[in-house]
Amino acid sequence: MVRRKHRREAAPKADLRCVCGYPLQRWWPYCPDCGRAQQWRDTAGQIGAECPRCRWAVSPKFSFCPWCARDLEDEGTFSEEPLKAPKGFRMDARCDWGCGGGVQYPMPFCPWCGKDQQWKEEDRFEGSCPHCGRGVDDWMDICPWCGEDATGRDLIPQALRRVRQLLQVARISGWGFRLLLRPGVSGVDPRYPKIVEIEERYVVNVPRRDAIAWPMVVGLISHELGHSFLYHNWHWTRTAGFRRSFGEVAKAYRVMDDAWVDFQRRRVAIAPVNYVSAYAARHPEEDFAETFRFYLTRRGRLRELFTELGQKRKGVIVYQKFLALHEYVRSLRGAR
Ligand SMILES: [Zn+2]
Ligand SMILES: [Zn+2]
Ligand SMILES: [Zn+2]
Ligand SMILES: [Zn+2]
Ligand SMILES: [Zn+2]
Repeated sequence: MVRRKHRREAAPKADLRCVCGYPLQRWWPYCPDCGRAQQWRDTAGQIGAECPRCRWAVSPKFSFCPWCARDLEDEGTFSEEPLKAPKGFRMDARCDWGCGGGVQYPMPFCPWCGKDQQWKEEDRFEGSCPHCGRGVDDWMDICPWCGEDATGRDLIPQALRRVRQLLQVARISGWGFRLLLRPGVSGVDPRYPKIVEIEERYVVNVPRRDAIAWPMVVGLISHELGHSFLYHNWHWTRTAGFRRSFGEVAKAYRVMDDAWVDFQRRRVAIAPVNYVSAYAARHPEEDFAETFRFYLTRRGRLRELFTELGQKRKGVIVYQKFLALHEYVRSLRGAR
């Protein structure tokens, strides 16, 4: 609901807030913080009408409600011809369906022909909602468009529970990371080390939820957490101990992971000799993320891991990588 302290002429930048106090953008159906449904009415009477179904502000010229798609042709003085921008609205684009009318961002429906509209939101938001596909920012808990969990964490509860358990038994304390299900590719941007994006296609729109490869999802999350952990503890990469085990890492490397097949293996690969998996050989940062994944999914149990490394005749350097990580994790515990 819009709350205005003073009514000013030509004051497009009203301070729009949810009743919970959270700042909103006009025409968001939900508050991204508390999830309350919003109703953008025409309380000031500047637009001229309200939709009889959703009660949102509409122009009396509209043939359809651009917010809920209700047919308005029985209501008052609609225009025979599609218009560009009746009073109270601007034209940001023409209707996707070519009816000739104008539509204003972020109308989901054309007010002239009632058909649904698509908006390019890449420039307006950091990502997109795994439930409805519209733009959301990384910090949003609730999608302002569909009111569902904007992070997508509600779609992977069993994987999250498992990862939390593993972090606990491996005695790695959390560093405030934030998991987000997003389309495209899994990865961590070094500029935002706590934001861990997980490719949503493994769990979104899958025909059968019981066919989801949960161990792979857990492996993928563990791998990405490795990147996040390293960016978060970047000073460690400058030490001799780290360099001896993993080599030089360069922060310019933007992680984009696509080898999910590798991430579902719970057992160390036989080749290559000096890495835990083939993927780890791609880059020192991948080497670390893969070592971290094995360390985490194998509960930090070095003895068990080392037995396996011995059976597979892995190089001494692989033992060193696990030891370096183990020591570092222990030093973090000691520091607190
Ligand atoms: Zn709110
Ligand atoms: Zn409506
Ligand atoms: Zn149209
Ligand atoms: Zn949504
Ligand atoms: Zn990676």
